[in-house]
Amino acid sequence: MKTICDICLRELKGEKHNPSPIKASVCCDGCNTNVVIPYRIYLSNVNKDKALLFQTNNTLKLVRPKNKHFELEELQNYVEGLIELYPHRVNGDIVICNEEGLHLDMEYNHLVKLILGLDLLGPVLLSPTNLDEYNEDE
Ligand SMILES: [Zn+2]
Repeated sequence: MKTICDICLRELKGEKHNPSPIKASVCCDGCNTNVVIPYRIYLSNVNKDKALLFQTNNTLKLVRPKNKHFELEELQNYVEGLIELYPHRVNGDIVICNEEGLHLDMEYNHLVKLILGLDLLGPVLLSPTNLDEYNEDE
């Protein structure tokens, strides 16, 4: 019987990895490197100085603002267009997506669904509130 990676949904060849804390039972080498490890680093980052970019190619990328906060232009680059703040936070963190994802026919973001439980299109940035200069809490 073939084993399927729960993250990229491709046939799992080579070493099997535990994707915890992502709610999946098994993942491949590539997803362990490109998804599970960056997600763990993000969660364990007590300094809250990094954000996590969910790309539509099944890759998570840790990103930092050039200065103390993300500039609008940086956020626009990450989501590849106009930014939209998702109306709900995830574990207190801000979710930023592309306002025109549907209109631009952007790809469905499977990692966002798998990890955050949200249905969003295009690249999505998960950011601690302290990196967002528009945040009202500060
Ligand atoms: Zn995989």
